[in-house]
Amino acid sequence: MTKSVIAIDGPAGAGKSTISKMVAKQLKYIYIDTGAMYRAVAWRVLQEYKPPISTKQIIASVQDIDIKLSYDDNQNLQVETNGTNVTTEIRTPQVTALVSQVAAVGQVREKMVELQRNMAKQGKILMDGRDIGTCVLPNADLKIYLTASADERANRRAKQMAQKGYNIDVEKIKADIIARDEADMNREISPLKKADDAILLDTTDMTIDEVLKTIIKMVQD
Ligand code: C5P
Repeated sequence: MTKSVIAIDGPAGAGKSTISKMVAKQLKYIYIDTGAMYRAVAWRVLQEYKPPISTKQIIASVQDIDIKLSYDDNQNLQVETNGTNVTTEIRTPQVTALVSQVAAVGQVREKMVELQRNMAKQGKILMDGRDIGTCVLPNADLKIYLTASADERANRRAKQMAQKGYNIDVEKIKADIIARDEADMNREISPLKKADDAILLDTTDMTIDEVLKTIIKMVQD
């Protein structure tokens, strides 16, 4: 059976987007980074309002939002919000600090899930996020729950941030990751959770290459 719809979920910093991008490229699937979409909403909220942000403000910002995901010539994901390219802006610490609050709002999730299900009609797709296997694509052909220890995830995220030129404090990154996971796992609507039929893949002691090979085998088996 061809596994044409793949769902990858897991906590922050588990390597979902790095791995998903590589798997999608190698197998020629369309990669849909749903975290980028929630980040785009958070970015827009911050353009329109100053923290502390209320639920009412979040709902107002998401009303007429339009989010487009595409790829540039180097296969890098590009994110557009109502015509503005926000690819870099959605990765700032300010957006990261707000995104879980934004993602907990029902109206935001309804809108994103609708967009995501429409994007999933494009053919062979690999979608990553927090609720893909449990909510967005419950009939996915392959579901993977990708995780790693909090220390390992913090170290990986720190490396990524350092490469982008941010000043990093690993302990702060670890605390932020844990706080974001807590918020994502304990929200009322579509909390982060392994789907019953998802395969658990703990990558704490695995190299990127090992994870890549393992997932490609799961897709092809
Ligand atoms: O994957 P990434 O870390 O960029 O996701 C940012 C945030 O977006 C998550 O912490 C979570 O709050 C939210 N999210 C979500 N559902 C998804 C993808 C991301 O709630 N499917």
